[in-house]
Amino acid sequence: MQLITKPARKALVVTPHPDDAEGGCGATMAKWIKESGSEFIVVMCTNGDKGTSDRELQPAELAATREKEQREASGVLGVKDVVFLAHPDGGLEDDLEFRGQVVRLIRQHQPDTIFCIDPYRSKSHTHRDHRMSGQVALDAAFTYAWSYLHFPEQISQEGLKPHRVERAFLWASESPDCFVELEEANLELKAEALSRHVSQMHSRTTHDRMERIRRWSGETGEKAGVPFAEGFRRIQFGIGSLEWQFLDG
Ligand SMILES: [Zn+2]
Repeated sequence: MQLITKPARKALVVTPHPDDAEGGCGATMAKWIKESGSEFIVVMCTNGDKGTSDRELQPAELAATREKEQREASGVLGVKDVVFLAHPDGGLEDDLEFRGQVVRLIRQHQPDTIFCIDPYRSKSHTHRDHRMSGQVALDAAFTYAWSYLHFPEQISQEGLKPHRVERAFLWASESPDCFVELEEANLELKAEALSRHVSQMHSRTTHDRMERIRRWSGETGEKAGVPFAEGFRRIQFGIGSLEWQFLDG
């Protein structure tokens, strides 16, 4: 079990619904932005317009509310920008359009690190948008964004350059293998950011939320031998991956 000691210089967080990123890597964002000057861009893939059990609430109204909540939550953490791709909730597809959008954002922002949801599960099922967003983020980073031959119009017509992402950290993984050590203050900002998603958080008080985060981060921290942590599965792109490709023919 390894502690992550090198913060991102610049990270793209590819996330399916408002509040998923804060739950998955919110304290890590808070810590690295504040302590290391990391730059974070959140890519919100869907508009979250199905995230209610209230039959009176119109989807468009909910989408507008959740966009506002997401901006506020990201503001609490110090995120530099939030990009809204506004696919319908439940409508993400692993297709050329969505992959091209993520490739374009990687080429525009040139991150060294991406964060996304682990799309692979063997023991439980997860939301389709979670699988699609994780899979497309990883594919976009390796190898679409770094090849001149993929989405060449972004290079010839939009003036973008190919870009190599160094690594990905996957949250909500069944098998996290690396951890970011956290302090109480990072957990407080995570709780505060989650509290901004008012439309999703009616059943819990801020105090309950903080207690849950403290307990969950403590359990994750135990695996790494520290008081509090968020855990991720790490994927290192690049030379290692290429060697692996060659070795396997
Ligand atoms: Zn979600």
